[in-house]
Amino acid sequence: MARPPSGARSRRAAGAIPGAAGSGVVPVNDLGRGWIATAPEVRDVLDRVLSRGRYVQGPEHDAFELELAAFLGVRHVAGVACGTDALVLSLLAVGCGPGSEVVVAANAGGYAALAAAQIGARTVYADVAPPALLLTAETISRAVGPATTAVVVTHLYGNVVDVASIVDVARPRGIAVIEDCAQAIGAVDPSGRRVGSLGDAAAFSFYPTKNLGAAGDGGAVATDDDRIADAVRSLRQYGWTARYTVGRAPGRNSRLDELQAGILRLGLRRLDSLNARRRDIVGRYRHSMPKGLEFVTGAGCPSVAHLAVVRTPDRAVVRARLDDLGVRTDVHYPIPDHMQAGLASPLRSTDLPETERAAREVMTLPCFPGMTDEEVERVGAALGAALLDP
Ligand SMILES: *Cc1c(COP(=O)(O)O)cnc(C)c1O
Repeated sequence: MARPPSGARSRRAAGAIPGAAGSGVVPVNDLGRGWIATAPEVRDVLDRVLSRGRYVQGPEHDAFELELAAFLGVRHVAGVACGTDALVLSLLAVGCGPGSEVVVAANAGGYAALAAAQIGARTVYADVAPPALLLTAETISRAVGPATTAVVVTHLYGNVVDVASIVDVARPRGIAVIEDCAQAIGAVDPSGRRVGSLGDAAAFSFYPTKNLGAAGDGGAVATDDDRIADAVRSLRQYGWTARYTVGRAPGRNSRLDELQAGILRLGLRRLDSLNARRRDIVGRYRHSMPKGLEFVTGAGCPSVAHLAVVRTPDRAVVRARLDDLGVRTDVHYPIPDHMQAGLASPLRSTDLPETERAAREVMTLPCFPGMTDEEVERVGAALGAALLDP
């Protein structure tokens, strides 16, 4: 059961890292390496869960909720099916719905805007501020209005938003602050508190590429507020207030399954050390960083370096040169939300100069805990070569 493919086994036996060996290419990410490191423990989880016969909301799920709540320093964690649902359920639980406005960034992949659209709320985009490309109290102040019910702050690329200053703007106006922690689990703010404990509610995704990734989809909502927690726990399961009693609307089915919860419990124990490795990789890139590239992802605390993002006005040229040197890159994200055909058009006319400039300039370098030191060095050297004038 669940053995790695035989090719991976034989390469491992030879002491090489699957995906790195032979190809000469440094990928942006390679999730399989992480699984191979934990394969025996993962097999134990599969055996335990499958033989127990509880596959949804069983003991692994309940233990994971408690362990994540303790890790974050919050009173409640509710497991859900994915990060997008965690945003939807957080928005519903703080009272958003048709007629309310939700302020979001437009450079964060569209997830918050999609969540607002799903519940009939209207999206208002706020610009982000360089160098970290995050929302700030100042950019949010320009976007909130009398109908604003919530602000979603995304800790983009693993960088930490100054949530406290945003709470200072929001709370006197009765606006809820929801953290999107999908890219920043484990990060701490300058006061030492974990992201996910800084606003009214927080959404997490355990999509496989995230810093804490499942072997499929998963998500969670964290909160200190008993009423928000009750609402999420009810809405994630049909709106039940008791078994077969639909006491709340609009309910849905959004549960975290038992296998994923068991795997996530393993990952949570390793999260801080894996995040340290990510920061270390970005630190080494910075060390060898040539002029002409500006770092968006921080190397020290508080970033957890979900993605190693740099920016340059010559992005297309630099990416092509890196590709020639065997270093793959990506762009997170090429199209800002307010220019996406499938996202609700912005409510008010939107002026987002920093967001639009960033979308033209950002690029993502390889960064994942399973990278070898040799690969990290190769990326550093390739950056130097790619940025030399032709
Ligand atoms: C991945 C991600 C999400 C969505 O999570 P899913 O589990 O894929 O639904 C939301 N917000 C951000 C910032 C993300 O990176």
